Amino acid sequence: MGSKPKVAFFDFACCEGCQLQIANLEEDVIGLTNLVDVVEFREILTGKAPEYDIAFIEGSITRKEDEERIKDIRERSKLLVAFGQCAVSGGINRLKNNRESLEDVKKEVYGDSYNMPHLDTFPTKGVDEVVKVDFHIPGCPIDKNEFLSVVKAIALGKAPSIPNYPVCIECKLRENECLFDLDQVCLGPLARAGCGAVCPSNGVPCDACRGTVDNPNQNAMHEILEKYNYTIDEIQRKINLFGVKPEVKK
Ligand code: SF4
Ligand code: SF4
Ligand code: SF4
Repeated sequence: MGSKPKVAFFDFACCEGCQLQIANLEEDVIGLTNLVDVVEFREILTGKAPEYDIAFIEGSITRKEDEERIKDIRERSKLLVAFGQCAVSGGINRLKNNRESLEDVKKEVYGDSYNMPHLDTFPTKGVDEVVKVDFHIPGCPIDKNEFLSVVKAIALGKAPSIPNYPVCIECKLRENECLFDLDQVCLGPLARAGCGAVCPSNGVPCDACRGTVDNPNQNAMHEILEKYNYTIDEIQRKINLFGVKPEVKK
Protein backbone atom coordinates (compact mmCIF):
# COMPACT_ATOMS: atom_id res chain seq x y z
CA MET A 1 0.00 0.00 0.00
CA GLY A 2 3.04 2.39 -0.16
CA SER A 3 2.40 5.18 2.34
CA LYS A 4 0.40 4.47 5.47
CA PRO A 5 -3.06 3.10 4.60
CA LYS A 6 -5.99 5.45 5.25
CA VAL A 7 -8.29 3.76 7.72
CA ALA A 8 -11.85 4.56 8.82
CA PHE A 9 -14.16 3.08 11.44
CA PHE A 10 -17.94 2.89 11.14
CA ASP A 11 -20.62 1.59 13.48
CA PHE A 12 -24.01 0.09 12.74
CA ALA A 13 -26.43 -1.66 15.16
CA CYS A 14 -24.31 -2.62 18.18
CA CYS A 15 -23.29 -1.66 21.70
CA GLU A 16 -20.02 -0.07 20.45
CA GLY A 17 -18.09 -2.32 22.84
CA CYS A 18 -15.72 -3.39 20.08
CA GLN A 19 -14.82 0.21 19.16
CA LEU A 20 -14.28 0.81 22.85
CA GLN A 21 -11.65 -1.94 22.82
CA ILE A 22 -9.80 0.05 20.16
CA ALA A 23 -10.32 3.40 21.89
CA ASN A 24 -8.81 1.70 24.99
CA LEU A 25 -5.62 0.58 23.25
CA GLU A 26 -3.75 3.13 25.45
CA GLU A 27 0.02 2.86 24.84
CA ASP A 28 -0.59 0.41 21.95
CA VAL A 29 -2.39 3.19 20.09
CA ILE A 30 1.08 4.43 19.07
CA GLY A 31 1.68 1.06 17.42
CA LEU A 32 -1.61 1.52 15.57
CA THR A 33 -0.86 5.07 14.40
CA ASN A 34 2.61 3.94 13.25
CA LEU A 35 0.92 1.46 10.95
CA VAL A 36 -2.09 3.38 9.63
CA ASP A 37 -3.51 6.85 9.19
CA VAL A 38 -6.88 6.96 10.98
CA VAL A 39 -8.98 9.41 8.92
CA GLU A 40 -12.48 8.75 10.28
CA PHE A 41 -13.54 7.40 13.68
CA ARG A 42 -16.69 8.91 15.19
CA GLU A 43 -15.78 7.85 18.76
CA ILE A 44 -12.50 9.80 18.83
CA LEU A 45 -12.24 12.09 15.74
CA THR A 46 -14.43 14.71 14.08
CA GLY A 47 -12.91 14.51 10.55
CA LYS A 48 -14.33 12.75 7.49
CA ALA A 49 -12.64 11.45 4.33
CA PRO A 50 -13.99 10.63 0.84
CA GLU A 51 -12.27 7.26 0.45
CA TYR A 52 -10.35 4.72 2.46
CA ASP A 53 -7.80 1.95 2.04
CA ILE A 54 -9.42 -0.02 4.84
CA ALA A 55 -12.91 0.44 6.31
CA PHE A 56 -13.49 -1.30 9.66
CA ILE A 57 -17.15 -2.04 10.27
CA GLU A 58 -18.71 -2.66 13.66
CA GLY A 59 -22.33 -3.67 14.14
CA SER A 60 -25.01 -5.47 12.19
CA ILE A 61 -27.29 -4.38 9.38
CA THR A 62 -30.86 -3.98 10.62
CA ARG A 63 -32.46 -1.23 8.49
CA LYS A 64 -32.80 -0.21 4.86
CA GLU A 65 -30.68 2.90 5.55
CA ASP A 66 -27.95 0.62 6.93
CA GLU A 67 -27.90 -1.32 3.66
CA GLU A 68 -27.55 1.87 1.63
CA ARG A 69 -24.84 3.22 3.93
CA ILE A 70 -22.74 0.03 3.97
CA LYS A 71 -22.94 -0.21 0.17
CA ASP A 72 -21.71 3.39 -0.10
CA ILE A 73 -18.81 2.68 2.32
CA ARG A 74 -17.94 -0.47 0.36
CA GLU A 75 -17.75 1.50 -2.89
CA ARG A 76 -15.36 4.00 -1.31
CA SER A 77 -13.08 1.39 0.39
CA LYS A 78 -10.37 -0.78 -1.10
CA LEU A 79 -10.67 -3.30 1.72
CA LEU A 80 -13.49 -3.85 4.19
CA VAL A 81 -13.08 -5.61 7.54
CA ALA A 82 -16.01 -6.70 9.73
CA PHE A 83 -14.95 -6.58 13.38
CA GLY A 84 -16.89 -7.97 16.33
CA GLN A 85 -19.57 -10.62 16.18
CA CYS A 86 -22.39 -8.13 15.45
CA ALA A 87 -20.69 -7.32 12.14
CA VAL A 88 -19.39 -10.84 11.49
CA SER A 89 -22.63 -12.80 11.95
CA GLY A 90 -25.27 -10.38 13.27
CA GLY A 91 -24.26 -11.26 16.85
CA ILE A 92 -26.66 -10.76 19.73
CA ASN A 93 -28.86 -8.61 17.45
CA ARG A 94 -29.69 -11.71 15.45
CA LEU A 95 -31.66 -13.16 18.37
CA LYS A 96 -34.72 -11.28 17.16
CA ASN A 97 -34.63 -13.28 13.90
CA ASN A 98 -35.63 -16.38 15.90
CA ARG A 99 -38.97 -14.82 16.84
CA GLU A 100 -42.00 -15.38 14.67
CA SER A 101 -43.02 -11.72 14.55
CA LEU A 102 -40.70 -8.73 14.35
CA GLU A 103 -43.72 -6.61 15.22
CA ASP A 104 -43.96 -8.33 18.64
CA VAL A 105 -40.24 -7.77 19.27
CA LYS A 106 -40.66 -4.04 18.54
CA LYS A 107 -43.67 -3.79 20.85
CA GLU A 108 -41.69 -5.45 23.66
CA VAL A 109 -38.76 -3.07 23.23
CA TYR A 110 -40.46 0.23 22.40
CA GLY A 111 -43.94 -0.17 23.89
CA ASP A 112 -46.64 2.07 22.40
CA SER A 113 -44.14 4.00 20.22
CA TYR A 114 -43.07 0.84 18.40
CA ASN A 115 -44.48 1.94 15.03
CA MET A 116 -42.67 5.29 14.76
CA PRO A 117 -40.82 5.57 11.41
CA HIS A 118 -37.35 5.99 12.98
CA LEU A 119 -37.79 2.65 14.79
CA ASP A 120 -38.17 0.75 11.55
CA THR A 121 -36.16 -2.49 11.40
CA PHE A 122 -35.80 -5.71 9.42
CA PRO A 123 -34.28 -9.11 10.28
CA THR A 124 -30.65 -8.67 11.32
CA LYS A 125 -27.88 -9.39 8.83
CA GLY A 126 -24.13 -9.74 9.22
CA VAL A 127 -22.19 -7.32 6.99
CA ASP A 128 -21.23 -10.02 4.49
CA GLU A 129 -24.89 -10.70 3.80
CA VAL A 130 -25.03 -7.26 2.15
CA VAL A 131 -21.55 -6.45 0.78
CA LYS A 132 -18.27 -8.28 0.19
CA VAL A 133 -16.17 -8.52 3.36
CA ASP A 134 -12.43 -9.06 2.92
CA PHE A 135 -11.58 -10.07 6.49
CA HIS A 136 -13.48 -10.90 9.69
CA ILE A 137 -12.33 -10.30 13.27
CA PRO A 138 -14.52 -12.39 15.60
CA GLY A 139 -15.48 -11.85 19.24
CA CYS A 140 -17.97 -10.14 21.52
CA PRO A 141 -16.10 -7.97 22.13
CA ILE A 142 -13.01 -8.33 19.92
CA ASP A 143 -9.63 -8.88 21.52
CA LYS A 144 -7.60 -5.68 21.07
CA ASN A 145 -4.34 -7.62 20.55
CA GLU A 146 -5.93 -9.73 17.84
CA PHE A 147 -7.23 -6.53 16.27
CA LEU A 148 -3.72 -5.05 16.24
CA SER A 149 -2.26 -8.21 14.69
CA VAL A 150 -4.90 -8.08 11.94
CA VAL A 151 -4.17 -4.41 11.19
CA LYS A 152 -0.45 -5.17 11.11
CA ALA A 153 -0.90 -8.07 8.69
CA ILE A 154 -3.15 -6.06 6.35
CA ALA A 155 -0.81 -3.04 6.44
CA LEU A 156 2.03 -5.38 5.40
CA GLY A 157 -0.11 -6.79 2.58
CA LYS A 158 -0.57 -10.19 4.25
CA ALA A 159 -3.71 -12.15 5.07
CA PRO A 160 -4.48 -11.97 8.82
CA SER A 161 -4.31 -15.22 10.74
CA ILE A 162 -7.39 -15.98 12.85
CA PRO A 163 -7.41 -19.36 14.67
CA ASN A 164 -9.48 -22.03 12.97
CA TYR A 165 -9.44 -24.71 15.65
CA PRO A 166 -11.82 -25.26 18.57
CA VAL A 167 -11.73 -23.72 22.04
CA CYS A 168 -11.40 -27.27 23.46
CA ILE A 169 -7.78 -27.30 22.27
CA GLU A 170 -6.90 -24.18 24.27
CA CYS A 171 -8.96 -25.50 27.20
CA LYS A 172 -7.13 -28.84 27.26
CA LEU A 173 -3.76 -27.09 27.00
CA ARG A 174 -4.73 -25.26 30.19
CA GLU A 175 -5.52 -28.63 31.78
CA ASN A 176 -9.05 -27.58 32.79
CA GLU A 177 -11.57 -30.13 33.96
CA CYS A 178 -14.16 -30.49 31.17
CA LEU A 179 -17.41 -28.72 32.10
CA PHE A 180 -19.46 -31.53 30.53
CA ASP A 181 -18.15 -33.66 33.43
CA LEU A 182 -19.67 -31.06 35.75
CA ASP A 183 -23.11 -31.27 34.05
CA GLN A 184 -22.71 -28.06 32.01
CA VAL A 185 -23.25 -27.65 28.25
CA CYS A 186 -20.22 -26.06 26.61
CA LEU A 187 -19.76 -25.10 22.94
CA GLY A 188 -15.97 -25.54 23.11
CA PRO A 189 -15.89 -28.40 20.57
CA LEU A 190 -17.43 -26.11 17.90
CA ALA A 191 -16.30 -22.64 18.97
CA ARG A 192 -13.45 -20.75 17.30
CA ALA A 193 -10.41 -20.50 19.57
CA GLY A 194 -8.24 -17.44 20.10
CA CYS A 195 -9.53 -16.31 23.48
CA GLY A 196 -7.36 -18.73 25.46
CA ALA A 197 -10.51 -20.60 26.59
CA VAL A 198 -11.09 -17.80 29.08
CA CYS A 199 -14.64 -18.84 30.00
CA PRO A 200 -14.17 -22.56 30.72
CA SER A 201 -10.91 -21.70 32.50
CA ASN A 202 -13.09 -19.72 34.91
CA GLY A 203 -15.78 -22.38 35.25
CA VAL A 204 -18.14 -20.77 32.71
CA PRO A 205 -19.25 -22.75 29.63
CA CYS A 206 -18.24 -21.39 26.22
CA ASP A 207 -21.09 -19.77 24.26
CA ALA A 208 -19.07 -19.42 21.02
CA CYS A 209 -18.91 -15.62 21.12
CA ARG A 210 -16.19 -15.89 18.43
CA GLY A 211 -18.43 -18.00 16.20
CA THR A 212 -17.62 -21.55 15.19
CA VAL A 213 -14.62 -22.95 13.35
CA ASP A 214 -15.08 -23.07 9.57
CA ASN A 215 -15.98 -26.75 9.41
CA PRO A 216 -17.10 -27.80 12.89
CA ASN A 217 -16.55 -31.47 13.66
CA GLN A 218 -20.18 -32.51 13.78
CA ASN A 219 -19.32 -36.14 14.63
CA ALA A 220 -17.30 -35.14 17.70
CA MET A 221 -20.16 -32.91 18.89
CA HIS A 222 -22.66 -35.74 18.39
CA GLU A 223 -20.46 -38.15 20.35
CA ILE A 224 -20.22 -35.68 23.25
CA LEU A 225 -23.99 -35.07 23.24
CA GLU A 226 -24.63 -38.80 23.29
CA LYS A 227 -22.08 -39.45 26.02
CA TYR A 228 -23.51 -36.75 28.31
CA ASN A 229 -27.15 -37.25 27.36
CA TYR A 230 -27.90 -33.82 25.85
CA THR A 231 -30.00 -33.01 22.79
CA ILE A 232 -29.02 -31.11 19.65
CA ASP A 233 -31.69 -28.54 20.49
CA GLU A 234 -29.87 -27.68 23.74
CA ILE A 235 -26.70 -26.97 21.74
CA GLN A 236 -28.54 -25.08 19.00
CA ARG A 237 -30.21 -22.77 21.53
CA LYS A 238 -26.77 -21.78 22.82
CA ILE A 239 -25.37 -21.31 19.31
CA ASN A 240 -28.22 -18.91 18.52
CA LEU A 241 -27.05 -16.52 21.26
CA PHE A 242 -24.28 -14.98 19.17
CA GLY A 243 -26.01 -15.30 15.82
CA VAL A 244 -23.69 -18.03 14.62
CA LYS A 245 -25.01 -19.25 11.31
CA PRO A 246 -23.94 -22.94 10.96
CA GLU A 247 -26.38 -25.38 12.47
CA VAL A 248 -25.52 -28.61 14.25
CA LYS A 249 -26.81 -31.26 11.84
CA LYS A 250 -29.41 -33.68 13.22
S1 SF4 B 1 -19.78 -7.75 19.11
FE1 SF4 B 1 -20.43 -7.59 21.24
S2 SF4 B 1 -19.11 -6.03 22.16
FE2 SF4 B 1 -18.93 -5.86 19.91
S3 SF4 B 1 -20.42 -4.30 19.38
FE3 SF4 B 1 -21.45 -6.28 19.19
S4 SF4 B 1 -22.46 -6.61 21.16
FE4 SF4 B 1 -20.95 -4.99 21.45
S1 SF4 C 1 -14.92 -27.37 29.16
FE1 SF4 C 1 -15.69 -26.86 27.12
S2 SF4 C 1 -13.90 -26.09 26.04
FE2 SF4 C 1 -13.15 -27.19 27.82
S3 SF4 C 1 -12.75 -29.26 27.06
FE3 SF4 C 1 -14.83 -29.25 27.91
S4 SF4 C 1 -16.13 -28.85 26.14
FE4 SF4 C 1 -14.05 -28.28 25.56
S1 SF4 D 1 -14.55 -19.23 25.80
FE1 SF4 D 1 -16.12 -19.12 24.21
S2 SF4 D 1 -17.60 -17.58 24.95
FE2 SF4 D 1 -15.70 -17.37 26.17
S3 SF4 D 1 -14.51 -15.78 25.12
FE3 SF4 D 1 -13.85 -17.77 24.30
S4 SF4 D 1 -15.12 -18.12 22.49
FE4 SF4 D 1 -16.10 -16.52 23.70
